[in-house]
Formats: sequence, structure tokens, C-alpha cells
Amino acid sequence: MTVIGLGPGTAGLLPPMALHCLIQAQAVVGYDRYVDLVDPGLLQGKTLFSSPMKKEMERTQKAVQLALDGMNTVVVSSGDSGIYGMAGLVLEYLERWALVDRIDLQIIPGIPALCAAAALLGAPLMHDFACVSLSDLLTPLPTIMKRIWAAAEADFVLVLYNPKSRRRSSYLADVLDIVARQRGPQTPVGFVRNAFRQDQEVLATTLESCDPDRADMLTIVIVGNSASRLVSDKILTPRGYFEKYGV
Ligand code: SAH
Repeated sequence: MTVIGLGPGTAGLLPPMALHCLIQAQAVVGYDRYVDLVDPGLLQGKTLFSSPMKKEMERTQKAVQLALDGMNTVVVSSGDSGIYGMAGLVLEYLERWALVDRIDLQIIPGIPALCAAAALLGAPLMHDFACVSLSDLLTPLPTIMKRIWAAAEADFVLVLYNPKSRRRSSYLADVLDIVARQRGPQTPVGFVRNAFRQDQEVLATTLESCDPDRADMLTIVIVGNSASRLVSDKILTPRGYFEKYGV
């Protein structure tokens, strides 16, 4: 059984190893929106099981059953499957049902949204960064906020996944406010929506000029550290080469 990441969504950023797994697969299991990103030609003649968000347990159970039935089964996540994806749930499921020795689990890395977004924004992740998901579906809000405070205080560049949903509309504004108080209102912030997909939107601006409401669940947000700066329409977090070596 193999868990793959589809990358941000365009075929060109699907790693060759993951593509090879899809070609070899007899069964493909995934969140319906992500399965829709796969070239239909690759899915033809295969057993397909796709379901909506919040049905991850059901998908995992189905994938394990298909693998136990002897099918070459591939579970798909977006980006990298080990970053807020299916890899952890599949491994936990195999552990829980004592199937680790019966099912050979392979996890193939993919290109996470944070890399795709960083590339579109310039070079915001050139120094230490912290990645926090603002989704409180599985993580209590106080834990999320504790991590935001710690990362803001330690001057990490911040990558924010799942920045917003209809149910929790104010978290992102609160987080950006915390960071602005630590680093100043001129701190660069980037919003990337649908990176490397149709309807891609990229905006590099500052905390004081940004509108948190432009983020939704298809957006990833990157906030610079205290040394980050805007270079035209890009964000640069300098690593310190010029300070050390001069021109
Ligand atoms: N496994 C994925 C993350 C899944 S969590 C990865 O490695 O990146 C889903 C969140 O990822 C979304 O709410 C959004 O914040 C972010 N995301 C995933 N794909 C994206 C894309 N193409 N453009 C912008 N954000 C994306």
C-alpha cells in the first residue's frame, strides 16, 4: 500500500515516483477534490474510492481493506502526504489494528503547498520557519495560539495552513495582529491561493496593508521574520550572505 502526495495540483509538479505508483495502482483512494486533480487517463480501469472532507477515517479503512484483498492500493493526498495529509492516519490505523507487519506501507514524498507558495512569493523561507495549521478541527485553539505566540516571539518566519473557514473567520486576523505587534506593521506577508492550479492568486504585501479576509481554505499565508523585506512584488528573507561577505 502506498501513500503519495500529488503536489500542489499541476501535473508537472507530480513527482515521477508518485506518477509511477499511480500508473501501477489497481485501486486509488482519496478526498474527492484531490482525486479530481489526477489525470483521468491515469485512473481509467482502476477501482476508485473517493469521499468528501472529514471522511478520512472511512477512506483509510477502505484503502486498508483493498490492500488486504491483495490490490495494489494508492492513497492520495494533496501536496506532501506527510504534512497535514493521509500518511499519519494510515500508519496510525495500521498500528491500531496491528496490521503493520501484514501490510507493506510505502510513503512517497510530494511537493507541499508551503514550497509551492514560497516559490511563487520569491524566497520567504530562506531562514528558520515554523508551520502552523489554524484548523481547530483536531487541535484545540489554545494549542494553536500557544504555538503562534512561541513562533512569533522566536522570530520564525510563519507558514499558516488552513488559514480560514466560514466557521472560524477571525483566527487569521488575530494571528496577524499578534505578529504585527512583535515585528511591526511593515512586516511582509504573502497570500497564495490555488498555487499551481487554475485560478492561482499571489499577493505579497505588508501586515498593515493586508486584508485577512482574502484568505480562504484554498490559501496559504506566509509571514516574514523581522529581517524579511519586499523586493518589488516578491518577499525576501535574507540569509545573511551580504552581511557576512560584503559585495
Ligand atoms: N498535504 C498538504 C496540506 C493539506 S492541508 C501539503 O503538503 O501542502 C490543506 C491546506 O493546504 C489548505 O487549506 C491550504 O492552506 C493549503 N494548500 C494546499 N494546496 C494548496 C495550493 N495549491 N495553494 C494554496 N494552498 C494550498
